[in-house]
Amino acid sequence: MKDKILVSACLMGFKIRYNASAKARIVEKLQQWQQEQRLITHCPELAAGLPTPRAPAEILNANGKAVMQQQARIMDNTGTDVTPHYQLAAWMALRAAQEAGCTAALLTDGSPTCGSQFIYDGSFTGQRKSGMGVAASLLTEHGIKVFSDTQLPELIAWVEARERSQE
Ligand code: SF4
Repeated sequence: MKDKILVSACLMGFKIRYNASAKARIVEKLQQWQQEQRLITHCPELAAGLPTPRAPAEILNANGKAVMQQQARIMDNTGTDVTPHYQLAAWMALRAAQEAGCTAALLTDGSPTCGSQFIYDGSFTGQRKSGMGVAASLLTEHGIKVFSDTQLPELIAWVEARERSQE
């Protein structure tokens, strides 16, 4: 069976990021997978009921795993604790992935939800740190292989290797 892949909706051109922008990375391979109905386009934050635009939010001095374990908080830049919204966003992503039978996810990096290679440190000064957002962390914990938007070649290689092993 061909792998299905959960994709951050903003990567597919939907203007649903916190600042109402998109981050489209449509390439030939994604278009092919889209035609083969292998992509599940999803925005965890929208699925959790957050509006667009919305205040930018960051994980405070921790990572998505700690947030999901109730050991860290997510605040927006107005000082509001938005942790429950983002925890729900992570669970919505996992449900969408599991219902569709996704084995991998291609997620926008840097987001407190979708980030996988890096997130921001909670100071709202643009300081990056390595780590995962809440959805990337929860998906990984449940066996779904997460790739960032800069790792599309790695995702393609991973999918092709799995297809070869299934032949
Ligand atoms: S939650 Fe993920 S899919 Fe939604 S806008 Fe943010 S990075 Fe994109």
